[in-house]
Amino acid sequence: MILMGEDGDRRDLAWMTLALDYAARGAVQGEVPVGAVLLDADGRLLAAAHNTPVQSHDPSAHAEMLVLRQAAQSLRNYRLTGATLYVTLEPCIMCVGAMLHARVTRLVYAASDPKTGAVESLYHLLEDDRFNHRIVTKGGVLAASSATLLRDFFRVRRCRKEAGAASVATVEAGVETGQRSGDATLQS
Ligand SMILES: [Zn+2]
Repeated sequence: MILMGEDGDRRDLAWMTLALDYAARGAVQGEVPVGAVLLDADGRLLAAAHNTPVQSHDPSAHAEMLVLRQAAQSLRNYRLTGATLYVTLEPCIMCVGAMLHARVTRLVYAASDPKTGAVESLYHLLEDDRFNHRIVTKGGVLAASSATLLRDFFRVRRCRKEAGAASVATVEAGVETGQRSGDATLQS
């Protein structure tokens, strides 16, 4: 079922708000703030998650991948026909691929991603009719909120890195030459 009109729009805003809430939780844990929510064909919540590649040492731990995995495991079915996936950032090629494999019916996302977006930015994978599955797509839902969350996250991280580099420089300036060559020997 594809939700249309005002009712559908309101529902999209509500679910995207939840996805943004998850994204913010990720930011607190030092993860790039991207959140996702997956609904079944009847609009019931199947799974919600935020990015965790850093803490799980897993390059595939994007929010979309995690909700697809959670839902498929709880339904004991890797096909998620009829599902709607909400995500706060335009999905990458990996996540679009996983959505196609899972037969997700509808994708709603917030901000576009000029660096890795595979829906409208870098690639237009979902417009490729060589795939035998179609995903109805809607972008730009609460895009400004998502973009602000991401911008703030990277701004804070940049500041911390600069502050960290400054304190490392101070420590290094105070360390004697002998100690530093000793450290180098231990590392080699
Ligand atoms: Zn991804």
